[in-house]
Formats: sequence, C-alpha cells, structure tokens
Amino acid sequence: MTVAVHGLAVSRGVAIGRAVIVAATRLDVAHYFITPDQAEAEIDRLRRARAVVVDDIVKVQQSLHELGPHDAHPELNALLDVHLMLLQDDQLTAAVKHWIRDRHYNAEWALTTQLEVVARQFDEMEDPYLRERKADLEQVVERMLRVMRGVGSAVAAPATDGRTGRETPLVLIAHDLSPADMLQFKQSVFAGFVTDVGGKTSHTAIVARSMDIPAVVGARSASHLIQQDDWVIIDGDTGIVIVDPSPIVLAEYGFKQRQGEVERERLQRLKSTPAVTLDGQKIELLANIEQPDDAAAAVKAGAAGVGLFRSEFLFMGRNGQLPDEEEQYQAYRRAVEGMQGMPVTIRTVDVGADKPLERNAVRENDYLNPALGLRAIRWSLADPAMFLVQLRAILRASAHGPVNLLIPMLAHVSEIRQTLALVQRAREQVQAAEQPMGEVRLGAMIEIPAAALTVPVFLRHFDYLSIGTNDLIQYTLAIDRADEAVAHLYDPLHPAVLQLIADTIAQANAQGKPVSVCGEMAGDVTMTRLLLGLGLRCFSMHPSQILAVKQQILRSDTGKLAAWAKTVLAADDPAALVVD
Ligand code: PEP
Ligand code: MG
Repeated sequence: MTVAVHGLAVSRGVAIGRAVIVAATRLDVAHYFITPDQAEAEIDRLRRARAVVVDDIVKVQQSLHELGPHDAHPELNALLDVHLMLLQDDQLTAAVKHWIRDRHYNAEWALTTQLEVVARQFDEMEDPYLRERKADLEQVVERMLRVMRGVGSAVAAPATDGRTGRETPLVLIAHDLSPADMLQFKQSVFAGFVTDVGGKTSHTAIVARSMDIPAVVGARSASHLIQQDDWVIIDGDTGIVIVDPSPIVLAEYGFKQRQGEVERERLQRLKSTPAVTLDGQKIELLANIEQPDDAAAAVKAGAAGVGLFRSEFLFMGRNGQLPDEEEQYQAYRRAVEGMQGMPVTIRTVDVGADKPLERNAVRENDYLNPALGLRAIRWSLADPAMFLVQLRAILRASAHGPVNLLIPMLAHVSEIRQTLALVQRAREQVQAAEQPMGEVRLGAMIEIPAAALTVPVFLRHFDYLSIGTNDLIQYTLAIDRADEAVAHLYDPLHPAVLQLIADTIAQANAQGKPVSVCGEMAGDVTMTRLLLGLGLRCFSMHPSQILAVKQQILRSDTGKLAAWAKTVLAADDPAALVVD
C-alpha cells in the first residue's frame, strides 16, 4: 500500500530507490558494493567470523562446566545456548547470503541489514521473553562484526561508490544521522536520505545538501513506517517521501527526476559566465566546504574561492583524539592548493550543539540548551593551547595560497580581544619556528543578535564580516535549528532577522569592508534578489547551489531591487512580498 510521509525538504531533486534502514548504532559499518565474483569471498568472511564466535561461546560453556556443576549457571548457559542457536540459524544465514549474492552488499552491510529486518520482527512479538531475544541477536552480530573488523575485508572497501551500474539505486533511511555520520556517507552508494529528526538548517541537513542528493529530514516516523527494501521516492523539493508507490506515481516522479537532470545540465552552461547583474554589479560567489577534498567541487562549480571551510569536520568522530598541528596544516594546505590561487576562508572549529565531536552523542552534554553552551569560539577559548594549535596550522597553510581566518560565534568584546591576542601569539610562534606564512585577513561571523547589534565594534577589530544566518535566525527567534517540532517557526524572513541582516550589510558597506552571507540563505534562490537588494555582493554556499544562484543574479537589477528591499524591510509580513 502506498504511504506518503511528510518531512522537511533539505536537498533538491528526486531520488527513487530501495530503502536501506540503518540503525544509529550500525552507522560505522562499511557500506559498499562488491562485484559478483567477490560474493563467495565475502560469504567466507562471514563463515569464518561465525566460526570464531561459536568457538568462543563453546569455550566459555566448557569453562563454566569445569567451574562447577552445570546447573550452577543455568541462566548464563541458557543465554549462551540462545546465542549459539542464533548463530546457527539457517534462515538468518540464507537471508544474509541473499544480500551478498543478489544485492552485492559487502559482508558487514549484509549482516546488519538482516539484523534490522529480524530486529523489527522481534519488536512486534507479543511475548516479552521472545521480544527480549532481540538484544541477544544484537550481541551476536556485534561479536561477528568485531571479529570481521579484526580480520579486515577480503575485498578492499572502495573509496568511492563501487557500483557496477547494474544495481538498483538505494536510499538511506535512519532515525537520525550525526553530521559525522553524514560525512562518512559522502562517498557512499546512496542516492538519497531520509531521517526522522532534524531541522532544515541542522548540520546533518547541511551536509546532505553538500552531497547534492535529494534528502528529507524531520520525517518523524519514516524509519518505522518504511521496511527494509521497500521502494521509496524522496522528493527533496517538497519534503514528501512516498513508500511503495503505484506505477502511475513512479512514472510521474521518474518524469520529474529527468526534468531536474535536464535543468541541471542547462545550468552548467552558466559555469564560466561572470556573475554580473543587469546593471553591471559584480557579485562574488564562494563555496562552503566541509573537507579539503571538497575544493575540487568548488572549482568545478566555478566558485571564486571558499567562503566557509567548516574546519570542525576534521575534529569529529575521532574518539577524543584531536588532530595535531601537522595533520591540520596538511588538511588546510590541501584545501588551499585545491583552490588553485583563489582565497580560502578557514573558520576555526565550531563544535558543540548539533555538531558533537563524537557520533551518537547528539547532545554532547546534559545541559538543557547546548546551542547556548560551550560551542565554537567559546570552546576554543576554553582551551587556548588547543586553539593555538589550530591557529598555527591555519597561518602556516597561508604560505601556499591566500587564506582568510574566520571566527565563529563571537558576541563580547572580551572574546574579540582574547581571540586577537591568541592570533598574535600564534603568529609569533610560527615566526619563531621560522615557518613561512602569508598575509591572513581576519574575519568575524555575525551570527548572534548581540553581534549584529554591535557591528561597529566588530568592524573596528576585523578586516571583514560573514553573516551566519543559520544561527542568527536560531538565536534571534529562539528556535532550535535542529528541532523539527519548531521548524515551522524557523523563518529567515522574520522582520527582526531581516533588520539585523540589513543593518550588518549596510554598516560594513558604509565602511568599505567586505561582508558576505555564508548561511543557507545565501544558497536559497528565493532569497537571492532580496539579499542583492539589501546590498549584499558576496554569497557563500554549497558548490551545488552556485549556478542556480548565478542564474538569479544574471536576471537582477540591483538598483530596482534596493528600492523593493526597503518595502520588504518595512512590511509586517515580508514573506508575502518575497516568495514568488
Ligand atoms: C551559520 O550559522 O549560518 C553558519 C554558516 O555556520 P554553521 O551553519 O556552521 O553554524
Ligand atoms: Mg553558525
């Protein structure tokens, strides 16, 4: 039966494929396709892992036996018997082999896919004893995965999608994905994503957008409604997820999908067209990146540089082991060299809130409002030695091409002073070590209302400003950007938000200091004309959005838009004037 689930549209386009349900705890398992001739080797890996686990259990049972009379440990023995039974279950084994032989999943992926199928069956059982056997199955699978991790893969996991072109497209369905998980899936086989939770500008959504594949977040019960292997349509433009579509619906979305592809190809023609408005205003279009290798996509999309390198992605999912100076330097250097002489704006680490260092720690601490807690520059200033490591690495990268340093979440002049003092100290340390470095311009993000209301202070201390609309909206409207329950109130066109953006741009322009927008508003084509009208001349966004925004720019006259923007700013309900 066809079912439609509504969520928040985060990444445009249509994906049609079979569902792969992934539980949060299984996200670190490798997902890649094998070639058909590798299937038997993968099955053999499973067999060997199973033999090791069976052997371990039998040994434990024997040692229990030696310790005392058998019935001294009846519960433990019964449990081990259950584990052995599960390991030797023919149905389970046959199903796992099916995923490997017929769907070409690697062994770990096949095992966890079947675990999800069976876990749901356990969940639906009436008998509490049987329901609880799910935990046993999870333990057994976990042990096999551990053994397989130790042994390594018979087939090297390909760095990129190893599909042979014959497989059905797959879409990933999960309750939640942390930004670090998303990053892991960046090079993956999936054609689209759906998550139950998350807001439109949550960092998970932002990474999905950077992958340029259709995605819907905040789809509430999607991961429960959708079954492993169901056919699913993801409409990333409207936020609709259709499960088990009828042939007519499939044909309709197939048509929409092809139309989207044609439109993208058409936009490619604008790649080397200069971004200049009808009245001759030159507009700078920059890229937002998460990893050094994203520089290639930025260059390919015709970006004039990187306006935001979210360096925190280098710090995530490392079990508390932060990258040292050399590792960071090499990463920043790769991004700088990848941009081939164009500037790279590296933002200092912004962890905390919905960007925890470790996966599964969606809330890194127990405080009620992590978005108001020790995040971004506050985190850096709390550990100056660690901050100095990052600052030195960034300064050293500037020896290889133009680098701008960008500081997130500043609000207080005391924070500005401490930050500038540490940047100065880092400069002295790099000089003392006789390491080369270039000129580095210093910029501040304006993403807290307190900063937007004291822009002159920031202009006195910094070379340029970058408006982080994602957080500026969150903090101005008191709406958690990651919470789908209040997503309908997250409004970039709220008059208060627009006033703060307009004033920041106007004050920077008046002093002749560069100002950009690097939040998601910059890549939203419905906002391009308004931002131009407010005087913005520099936009930073995901590479995939650059050409569509450029198209808007080429059709715009900033003189006319400036007059119109004034009426928008004065309106009670700006959305009525802005949205087409
Ligand atoms: C922003 O807040 O708009 C921004 C660009 O930073 P981030 O999304 O990483 O918080
Ligand atoms: Mg921000």
